[in-house]
Amino acid sequence: MKFIDEYQNSELARKVAQRIANRSTKPIRLMEFCGGHTHAIMRYGIRQLVPKTVEMRSGPGCPVCVTATSDLDKAIALAHLPGVIITTFGDIMRVPGSYSSLQRAKAEGADVRVVYSTMDAVEIAQANPRKSVIFIGIGFETTAPTIAASIIKALKEGVENFYVLSLLKLTPPVMKALLDLGEVKLDGIIGPGHVSVIIGSYPYEFIPRNYGIACVISGFEPLDILLCIDKLVEQIESGEPRVEIAYRRGVKPQGNKKALELLNEVFEIDSANWRGMGIVPQSGLKVNQKYQHFDADKAFSGLLRSARNDKPAKEPEGCRCGDILRGVATPLECKLFGKVCTPEKPIGPCMVSSEGACAAYYQFCGLEGTNGGM
Ligand code: SF4
Repeated sequence: MKFIDEYQNSELARKVAQRIANRSTKPIRLMEFCGGHTHAIMRYGIRQLVPKTVEMRSGPGCPVCVTATSDLDKAIALAHLPGVIITTFGDIMRVPGSYSSLQRAKAEGADVRVVYSTMDAVEIAQANPRKSVIFIGIGFETTAPTIAASIIKALKEGVENFYVLSLLKLTPPVMKALLDLGEVKLDGIIGPGHVSVIIGSYPYEFIPRNYGIACVISGFEPLDILLCIDKLVEQIESGEPRVEIAYRRGVKPQGNKKALELLNEVFEIDSANWRGMGIVPQSGLKVNQKYQHFDADKAFSGLLRSARNDKPAKEPEGCRCGDILRGVATPLECKLFGKVCTPEKPIGPCMVSSEGACAAYYQFCGLEGTNGGM
């Protein structure tokens, strides 16, 4: 197949679904790591297309959702500092922190601006030399190279009032942490397509080797995902788990060398705080020493300490986003889903984000969690 509409062909999709049904002889559980996959699975009714033996769970692959409340509180506190402009991608605006949100901070007078690229944030810094412009860096390996490029640009062009609060996270370490927790038994993982374009397939080799779990990297069209599930079922049925790429038009085993060089030039690996998982060692990226001038954590830690009161971070009451991100629960198991918590009045990040599992269930499946399929 060459064209995107071929990957959306419902007749072909049904044929692949039938092949999966023919192969699948025992109950298995698969996790799609990536929030983009969760949305595609719900949108195209893929859970209804595959046989009942194949159970699907969402994982921690929504960058907005996994941002810890305490990190969000820090971003909100930065927004309230005098002379600061916060720049960020849109989704995070509405995510509730412990006591406020970036959207509320903006309504209260803070200068918070939504940007569509990190380069826009650098331009805002250039246009406002008397202000400190902080970009809230949320995302995975996919986003990190573009943020790195913006920092390099700021250095080259002498933009000294540009900063990044790096809340960037790494995929393989959190997969390992999740598997080590062992809370949910998995037979296979649908590997994230966009992240793998950057890091390639080699970093997932530990999954079959150490845990005996199949891992197939998928694209985001319905046929991509069905072909990925087909390969996973084949591996699981044959008892030969391995890492495979079912997204050859996007992913090479070695990843994208240029993007990785950018990432490694500016960032170094550090621990990160994940919603639902807590601190996971070696699972985040912070600005390295060479570029430390641009590190908002370093530049504003003193000001933040004196401006913030010491109220502890708290999670929204009754919200099960943490359990959903660990694959322990589905959105339908949250008592607030669709009643108290809706996209118009979200309680937790999984209902806010365009990649959140609760938003996907609500948008495509309603309160019963079913979708008629392709
Ligand atoms: Fe949290 Fe709302 Fe999802 Fe429940 S439905 S887990 S409250 S985001």
